[in-house]
Amino acid sequence: MVTGRFAPSPSGPLHIGNLRTALLALCFARSAGGDFLIRMEDLTTEASADHESAQLADLAALGIDHDGDVVRQSERGELYAAAIKQLEDADLTYPCFCSRREITEAVHAPHGELPEGAYPGTCSRLSSVEQQRRMTQRGRSTLRIRTAGQTVSFEDQLCGTRSGQLDDFVLRRWDGIAAYNLAVVVDDHDQGIDQVTRGDDLLATTPRQVFVHQVLGFDLPTYVHVPLVLGPDGKRLAKRHGPRSLAAVSAAGLAPLEVLRLLAESIGITDLTDPLSAESLAGRFDPGDLSRFPWTFDLSDQIHS
Ligand code: GLU
Repeated sequence: MVTGRFAPSPSGPLHIGNLRTALLALCFARSAGGDFLIRMEDLTTEASADHESAQLADLAALGIDHDGDVVRQSERGELYAAAIKQLEDADLTYPCFCSRREITEAVHAPHGELPEGAYPGTCSRLSSVEQQRRMTQRGRSTLRIRTAGQTVSFEDQLCGTRSGQLDDFVLRRWDGIAAYNLAVVVDDHDQGIDQVTRGDDLLATTPRQVFVHQVLGFDLPTYVHVPLVLGPDGKRLAKRHGPRSLAAVSAAGLAPLEVLRLLAESIGITDLTDPLSAESLAGRFDPGDLSRFPWTFDLSDQIHS
């Protein structure tokens, strides 16, 4: 028995790509006879209660039901603080005073070649006197995890063995709020989630989360990174491709249940009979039927046919 989840950020309407990932997360959990939870990752500044209600209404419209209460990251600050304390006590953290610009401009990396955008370790060896001086000067800091720039590997159920090099990534932001890579691990562990299904745009950040699981002494979940949805031009589905939310495609002539039918077919569930709901489909999902390639959504194909 597994526990899976869908963890959207309520910072706008869910689009067809998010809805397909949600359906897949439900199907992977249910096909393993498991529970399915929803967690709102509302620590971003764009998050709002209105977006959350709209996202939950869209999931309900497709019959994507969840077990238990919806959990919100904004209500879990104490859990994140306790995990950060554990890492601080283990001497695995340090304050960082660098601005985004300083990070981009830093040339020398103590860890050798790092991926683009990686932190070069500038503040990792400041003395406590220097830390104090910078704190007085700048008035704020982020908190970073101390790594050795090592490469971390993990197994993904769809993508196979993946690996990535670590940098000293942020655990706590300037505003004192837990960073995504910390919060997601603490939540998955605390909620008993052992199956993480999400878009494969998050593959690159997974080694960091694997590392956080390891240093906090948590068991790793099974990772299932699913292919993204593309627009007709073969690029990741985006605003410029036109209607993408349930409301917008519905206004353009594709009703929610037709969207569900289309999404179901896109993940290999065929011969559909009415009435249709995501829960009723999940029992017919076979992970082996899921294409490893991205799926293309072309609204014009749907409304003219
Ligand atoms: N909140 C993230 C997003 O909406 C997903 C994080 C996750 O599934 O781990 O992209």
